[in-house]
Amino acid sequence: MTVTEAEAKSVLRRHRKIDSWFVSRYGMNLYRGCFHNCIYCDGRAEGYYVSGEFGEDVLVKVNAIDVLRRELDAKRRRKPLPRSYIMLGGGVGDSYQPIEKKYELTRRALQLVHDSGFPVHVLTKSTLVTRDADILKAVNQRGRAIVSFSFSSVDDRISDIVEPRVPPPSERLEAIRFFKGEGLACGMFLLPVIPGVTDSAELLEEAVAKASGVGVDFIIFGGMTLKEGRQRTYFEEKIKDHYPRLTVDYRHIYRGSKWGEPAYEYADSLNRSFGAIARRYNMPIRMPPALYQDILGGNDLVVVILEHIDYLLRKRGERSTFGRAAYSISQVPEYLWEMKGDLRKVRGVDETVECVVLEILDMGKSSYYEQLLSGDT
Ligand code: SF4
Repeated sequence: MTVTEAEAKSVLRRHRKIDSWFVSRYGMNLYRGCFHNCIYCDGRAEGYYVSGEFGEDVLVKVNAIDVLRRELDAKRRRKPLPRSYIMLGGGVGDSYQPIEKKYELTRRALQLVHDSGFPVHVLTKSTLVTRDADILKAVNQRGRAIVSFSFSSVDDRISDIVEPRVPPPSERLEAIRFFKGEGLACGMFLLPVIPGVTDSAELLEEAVAKASGVGVDFIIFGGMTLKEGRQRTYFEEKIKDHYPRLTVDYRHIYRGSKWGEPAYEYADSLNRSFGAIARRYNMPIRMPPALYQDILGGNDLVVVILEHIDYLLRKRGERSTFGRAAYSISQVPEYLWEMKGDLRKVRGVDETVECVVLEILDMGKSSYYEQLLSGDT
């Protein structure tokens, strides 16, 4: 394993629109590359430009804390940064991979986020995050902190094959129980679910049941993407080594889409299967509004709720214009409440969407969304 120390010009990545999965406008990668080396990791794909051998070489942004301090300094800005969760995790390297023990970049970044007053959402596969419970609790008291763990299943034996360098799911679940006991909200990112390996109804149900048992607040679910090139070659080699009798033919599921997405029929059937299980356990499949309603400003709150509505409708097999409207609204520079009478001029905003938007602007919530969440409509 090789560690390369490098200087970064910037750390805080600002998204062009709010991300409604994480309810976040900002992300950061303090490390590029990941020693966890999960066999399905799409950070290995050429499109992410991670140099060296993925899983063995990691770049450490040694000046990240100084850069981030400047980026979060409100006095250096003409306009304050819009509020949302700052996302730590995801992307091309786990923030709590083993070298974090030595460099403590994530811990020090959390301290800066705390000082800035921003809420934070951490996503990891490592129980090392429990080391930072003190700072996360302080962030939670000042704004809010969410700790989420990702899982491809909750089966320790399968995890040992597909993600051999991370703590087993049973330990991740215990870490969730711990954080819940400390008063923090926790999410499960049940992704990527691997075709033929972790996508059975039994394994999905076991994941939802165990998540429910430790008090998870929501589960974000997703299948596996498999991009042509390094990611696909590495994954298929490894999976054949460990599952020589696997009956699933990946050529039928992954047909070379640019983003590595699985075929629609497969994804749709998997989503329906998970959706039915989540409904039985009354498990939210998006971050519940109580975790973000008081954090987001008007336009961002509208975009997130519209995208969640779109997701819930599509999960039920219904057509929806909410997603298109959400995207258009995310590109509108004006404050929506200043253009209440002109909402229909925004692309994708029809009468139904307009009613929902007006209610969000007036009340800070949507009764239609709440009905969808509770399954009453
Ligand atoms: S922990 Fe995440 S970033 Fe690291 S190898 Fe696994 S999937 Fe990739």
